[in-house]
Amino acid sequence: MTRQVLDRIDLAAARTGLDRRRFLTRSGAVAATLTVLNGCASGDGDAAPATSTSTTGPSTTSADTTTTSTTTTDPGGQYVVPEPEDEEACRVELGDRGEFVFDVHTHHVMPDGVWRENAPRLEQMIRRLVPPGCTEAERLECLNRTAYLTNMFLGSDTTIAMLSDIPSSGPLDAAVPFDAKVGTAELMEAITVAGRSRVLLHDVIAPNFGPLDQRLDDMAATAATGRVSAFKVYTAWGPDRQGYSLADPAIGVPVVEQARDLGVDVMCAHKGLPLLEFDQRFNGPDDICAMAAAFPDMRFVVYHSAFETSTTERAYDPDRAATGVNSLVKAMDDHGIPPNGNVYGDLGTTWRETMRDPTEAAHVLGKLISRLGEDRVLWGTDAIWLGSPQAQIEAFRAFEITEAFQERHGYPALTAELKAKILGLNAAELFGVDVEAVTCGIDTSLLEASRGELQVLVDDGLVPSPYEPVGYMTRREVLGWWRSLTEPWAPV
Ligand SMILES: [Zn+2]
Repeated sequence: MTRQVLDRIDLAAARTGLDRRRFLTRSGAVAATLTVLNGCASGDGDAAPATSTSTTGPSTTSADTTTTSTTTTDPGGQYVVPEPEDEEACRVELGDRGEFVFDVHTHHVMPDGVWRENAPRLEQMIRRLVPPGCTEAERLECLNRTAYLTNMFLGSDTTIAMLSDIPSSGPLDAAVPFDAKVGTAELMEAITVAGRSRVLLHDVIAPNFGPLDQRLDDMAATAATGRVSAFKVYTAWGPDRQGYSLADPAIGVPVVEQARDLGVDVMCAHKGLPLLEFDQRFNGPDDICAMAAAFPDMRFVVYHSAFETSTTERAYDPDRAATGVNSLVKAMDDHGIPPNGNVYGDLGTTWRETMRDPTEAAHVLGKLISRLGEDRVLWGTDAIWLGSPQAQIEAFRAFEITEAFQERHGYPALTAELKAKILGLNAAELFGVDVEAVTCGIDTSLLEASRGELQVLVDDGLVPSPYEPVGYMTRREVLGWWRSLTEPWAPV
């Protein structure tokens, strides 16, 4: 598959008269990749995705008919993309369509922070997430605050981003302590229209470290800044590798009550995608759905939608619901949460990991939209791990669930209206963001004016490509880019 993508990109670059580096700064490179992915879809069986790729080849004819599947069933999803050589069509079809893109799941780090001394294992994990083309001597600088603002707001069509963090026990081992998060938001506000913030903040808390009263006071202190859009927990992470249940009356319940009392009515939890030293007993979504049933006036967001890379996503089966999106659907059923209720699902990493197999992607999106509800699926990318989220955005715009899958599994059609909800309108409603006010602010902002100038500078090699912190020159770097789209990153 890798070779096919590379060959297709080289072919398109040659046909358009651009060198490879320059071609890779265009949406045509994404179109070439998606065209190949169409041919790599697995069937709809319970088996692992088809491994034979000998008869699948990149389409050189029509983008709509690239299905040379080696399995007996049709793929469940497809990318509808123009010819990669047609630069104008790629720009129009894959580029900014004026959607309100609200990425609820984003990251950067503070490379100078004390966390690197205090949490060396987390630093090791983060180093694996540096974009492959990074040329900084200190590679964590490719994930710093400037790289964040550049990749998110100049290098992608993202309108608003929620800044999250990795697990920590407090400011001393947080990759981005809450004060630093405020600094990032303030920097962004300094270059956009005042009062129309485009960086919202999570406060990541670990109530299972130290005295609970102290942790509840910490929550009150950050909430007092008026900048906490949601609290986020990692229930599978804790001292001595012990997690906890969000429904535990001694830990989770007081935290949710405290959030509610502080006026922060959104609680987020990482579920699925096992990270370092996770306590798997507490990594499933049952507890958060139990809390959603118990606290109907609060809203709960299941980060990653409980997806994990070791589970191949297929049609929902309650007998195979121990992990993955099925475990979320089952927890919703077990606790009687209706569609469009108070449980939300985030697509961070989940989309990036499943988009390489259109059938698996169709199952993930189909299950989430039909069970959580079309107003409850939230766009997230986990950027700027591995760089700008732009390729993920463009792939999502181009993606469709096939009619056969809609009929067979009761999945919805991915209409433009539904995509617009998922890309941003659902999150805007959840976090009380005034879409019109933000959009109006962007039109006049200095930052937005500079977006138009970016492509010129990229062409001249003066600033990095929107798709990567550095331009691509070599075959090896191209492979790095390709892998950053297709290889699992989550340490297990
Ligand atoms: Zn994340």
